[in-house]
Amino acid sequence: MITYDAIIIGFGKAGKTLAGRLANNNWNVAMIEKDPDMYGGTCINIACIPTKSLVQDGLKGVPYRDAIERKDKVVEKLREKNYKNLAEHENVTIYESEASFRSDKEVELELDGKTEVLTAEHIFINTGATSNIPPLKGDLNSDKVYTSTSLIDRKQLPRQLAIIGGGYIGLEYASMYKTFGAEVTVITPEEELLTREDREIAAEVQKVMEEKGIHIIFGAKAQEITEESKDKVSLSLSNGETVSANAVLLATGRKPNVEHLGLENTSIELTENGAIKVNDHLETTVGNVWALGDVKGGMQFTYISLDDYRIVENYLFGDKKYSLESRKHVPNSMFIDPPLSRVGITAKEAEEKGYEIAEGKLLVASHPRAHVINDLRGLFKVVIDKKTDKILGASLFGPESPELINLVKLAMDLEAPYTYLRDQIYNHPVMSESFNALFAID
Ligand SMILES: Cc1cc2nc3c(=O)[nH]c(=O)nc-3n(C[C@H](O)[C@H](O)[C@H](O)COP(=O)(O)OP(=O)(O)OC[C@H]3O[C@@H](n4cnc5c(N)ncnc54)[C@H](O)[C@@H]3O)c2cc1C
Repeated sequence: MITYDAIIIGFGKAGKTLAGRLANNNWNVAMIEKDPDMYGGTCINIACIPTKSLVQDGLKGVPYRDAIERKDKVVEKLREKNYKNLAEHENVTIYESEASFRSDKEVELELDGKTEVLTAEHIFINTGATSNIPPLKGDLNSDKVYTSTSLIDRKQLPRQLAIIGGGYIGLEYASMYKTFGAEVTVITPEEELLTREDREIAAEVQKVMEEKGIHIIFGAKAQEITEESKDKVSLSLSNGETVSANAVLLATGRKPNVEHLGLENTSIELTENGAIKVNDHLETTVGNVWALGDVKGGMQFTYISLDDYRIVENYLFGDKKYSLESRKHVPNSMFIDPPLSRVGITAKEAEEKGYEIAEGKLLVASHPRAHVINDLRGLFKVVIDKKTDKILGASLFGPESPELINLVKLAMDLEAPYTYLRDQIYNHPVMSESFNALFAID
């Protein structure tokens, strides 16, 4: 048995950041990653970075095959850099193996056919999440059925792509593959798009996606996949329709990666959603065993994983005051074309919470910058608490919204009145100056 000061399972955002911090503090750290193609974690290898590099190239008119090649290069570079950052640290040992708990404080690995056991007082679980596979009849192992990970490894653009699921990943891929020239059909069991978003914004997103040529089938579940020909499958749906496609993307959410962790050998408990149960400081039900990132449930974003790192770092080395409870507003963006970004709550949610609200609304087409960049699509909306003048939320569907939303988030965190964004001097012609008009609420 080898003893470390800390064992980190999973080379994700929180895990790698924490490994560096602990090692710099002279902790002897074991970093365990099961997949050599995943050094640096999900974000840089199979998620945020490759998908947004493809989105970007698609919008620039780069052919699909060339975009895939560039994406592979970007990923390889980042993976190597991430690996080296830790591998070259004298206090870090990297193990390439799947880790599994043998007891609360012992972790087992297979190395060159032999079992090795590591132990540490502090253990950090950062194993991420994996695609849900929906219960469809037919051959889900067909070479025409993909997850978000395998589809972006496909070298040839599918002529027809069917996407099962109308969530964030489903819609981002729909927009991206349509931009590259695929015929795209999205199948969603919901009767409307983006059910948790403001209805007017969701309707605008639907309009823009349909105008782009994306076909959306509402109120239908995919039931069976049948091989139609050498390069085609057909999907039968619960509403009686059949969709033919060269590729089917399963985009039905992601579940915490706990399956092979041997948690049954420990007192680490799971939530009813199958995530690792943690307290406000991200400690599991075993003292000094922590869970960070997607595996602990909740919002699945890289910056949440990074903020989870901040919580644990603050607990270990700081004043222990930063916790899930004190986390402020979390923005998010969906990189469709144009992007949709959101922070805080919608008008409907605010009213349900008992706020007396006012709303600000602006068509992107009415703003000068939209004309400069020749993209007039979209709608911006904000919600204000009439009593305090505080901003309760913003839904920004339009160009450059992933940058803009962070400004609103800052104002909300600082509890600034909406008039602060309304009366600000912005440079010109930029998208943020649209806040002069968007926040002009009587
Ligand atoms: C298609 C897609 C697009 C996305 N786009 C964005 C985006 O634009 N912006 C954003 O913020 N988020 C995005 N996300 C979400 C984001 O990628 C994740 O929330 C984030 O990467 C999770 O990081 P993590 O720290 O939880 O762990 P991960 O980065 O998932 O790392 C977990 C690591 O643990 C390893 N592992 C698992 N089990 C074991 C084990 N037993 N032993 C050893 N190693 C193990 C895995 O191989 C993996 O490397 C996207 C996700 C997807 C799928």
